[in-house]
Amino acid sequence: MSKNLSYWQDTVETKSYEALAGNIEINTLVIGGGITGITTAYLLTKLGVDTVVVDAGTLNKNTTAKTTAKITYQHGAIYNDLISKVGEEKALQYLDANRQAITLVKDIIENHNISCDYKTQWAYLYATKENEIEKVMKEKEAYDRLGIPSTITQEIPLPFDIKSAVGVENQGQFHPLKYVYELSNILEKEKCKIYEDTCVLDIEGEKPPFKVVTKKGEIKCQNVVVACHYPFLKDGKHGMYFLRMHQSRSYVLGVRSDVKPFEGMYININDPIYSLRYQFDEKGAILLLGGGNHRTAEKEDERSSYESLEKFFHEYFPNPKIEYAWSNQDCMTLDDIPYIGQMSSNIPGIYVATGFKKWGMTSGTAAAMIISDLIVKGKSDNTDVFFPSRFKVVDSTKNFITNGLEIAESFIMRLLPIHLKELDDVTMGEGKIVEYEGSKIGVYRDENGKYEGIIPNCTHLGCLLKFNRAEKSWDCTCHGSRFDVLGNVIEGPAVRPLKRVEISDTKN
Ligand SMILES: Cc1cc2nc3c(=O)[nH]c(=O)nc-3n(C[C@H](O)[C@H](O)[C@H](O)COP(=O)(O)OP(=O)(O)OC[C@H]3O[C@@H](n4cnc5c(N)ncnc54)[C@H](O)[C@@H]3O)c2cc1C
Repeated sequence: MSKNLSYWQDTVETKSYEALAGNIEINTLVIGGGITGITTAYLLTKLGVDTVVVDAGTLNKNTTAKTTAKITYQHGAIYNDLISKVGEEKALQYLDANRQAITLVKDIIENHNISCDYKTQWAYLYATKENEIEKVMKEKEAYDRLGIPSTITQEIPLPFDIKSAVGVENQGQFHPLKYVYELSNILEKEKCKIYEDTCVLDIEGEKPPFKVVTKKGEIKCQNVVVACHYPFLKDGKHGMYFLRMHQSRSYVLGVRSDVKPFEGMYININDPIYSLRYQFDEKGAILLLGGGNHRTAEKEDERSSYESLEKFFHEYFPNPKIEYAWSNQDCMTLDDIPYIGQMSSNIPGIYVATGFKKWGMTSGTAAAMIISDLIVKGKSDNTDVFFPSRFKVVDSTKNFITNGLEIAESFIMRLLPIHLKELDDVTMGEGKIVEYEGSKIGVYRDENGKYEGIIPNCTHLGCLLKFNRAEKSWDCTCHGSRFDVLGNVIEGPAVRPLKRVEISDTKN
């Protein structure tokens, strides 16, 4: 079993795209090659807009590559909450946008004959305890108010007892990377360029045309779509998303067992979350179990999330053979509703799509529909509920941000003597923050005893990092940026590597 390689990554034929080389000019730039960015580029290209996609990494190493790929508007138990938080009209907009997204995914697959293991499925939200039945019934009432056809049942094929479940039909599942790569092939044929290994560092300008600064060249454009998962822009004028979003990790196990595979997609109504669905393949079927959720960098030992999923399997699925174990994170907004639309009310021409709270297969597709409409037609349906500027950021927070940056910039590379007593406490294969001459230093000791040191302050806004024991990474305690043990960015919002600390016999 390879750690942190998803079933999708392991079973797709990938292809690579060149990095940008020099400056270009285009009508619309899409930043991010996950499902959101690629679908946006697909729709824009179809509507005749000259579009380019850039990605900091590759198309197969993002959140889309590590999802469970349920395509549903049943995003946990949300509709009762949505109606009470934002009212029936906006709850309907949320539903409608996600329902249209399911139809779009299906249509794209059918129209282009895309082979991506698409299957229409029922989706169920289930309760295992008596005291959860009421919550299921409340969700069912919300479905009725919004006109969602649904069924209450106790008969679902899970290998354990449930008390009640509410099911909705005509949802779906697929292989997300096969889908994204097929879309990227279509884009290529339509002359929409995709550049990998092209990290965007900044967007300059307060009205079109914008100058987008990447590590490989500059892009002049009329519109920018920020579909890069967690927006990396950290100055005051771009909406300060880092003050109103955090990231949450989830874990997935891919397991074959002696239990007869069943159809349908399942998620329970209360924490701890267990999300289940089979992926059918030439070997038979592999069960994907998701759960173990926690805020990034908040769990003492991340390995316990995998352990709780393994325990679940051993309890209910005889002779489980774990073939895959992976984890990833998604962006969570203050009110659990994505931010989709114009990124900041002062700057027309820059759009954002983020905050999908682990439901981006549909929400990312819905975002692509909304943003491509906004660019081409100047308006779209269902925009109010997702309006990105619905929270105001007070002026005093701008000072906090500047201070945060100064702290991060004030660190300098320094040498850490190998004889330091604290280094003995770092177990092989583990990372730890040690104090040296009044500064904190993150030290990782590999399986051969070699040390790697970093300054454990995120290059995004200076927050402290924590060592992730399951993935062997340094994770930001504020916004969820992640770095490998050598300080390279694994995922944003940070775009710059950590400062390294040399650990040697010499003392500076
Ligand atoms: C474990 C798990 C299970 C999930 N299960 C489901 C599910 O069953 N159903 C569902 O609907 N959703 C699910 N989700 C959520 C879903 O996977 C995500 O919401 C979705 O993949 C987000 O897609 P995206 O395109 O917005 O972001 P990503 O797929 O992360 O793509 C963003 C891209 O932007 C690039 N990028 C970042 N910064 C920059 C930069 N500065 N410059 C250039 N490029 C940049 C990255 O390299 C990346 O390729 C799950 C999430 C997790 C973590």
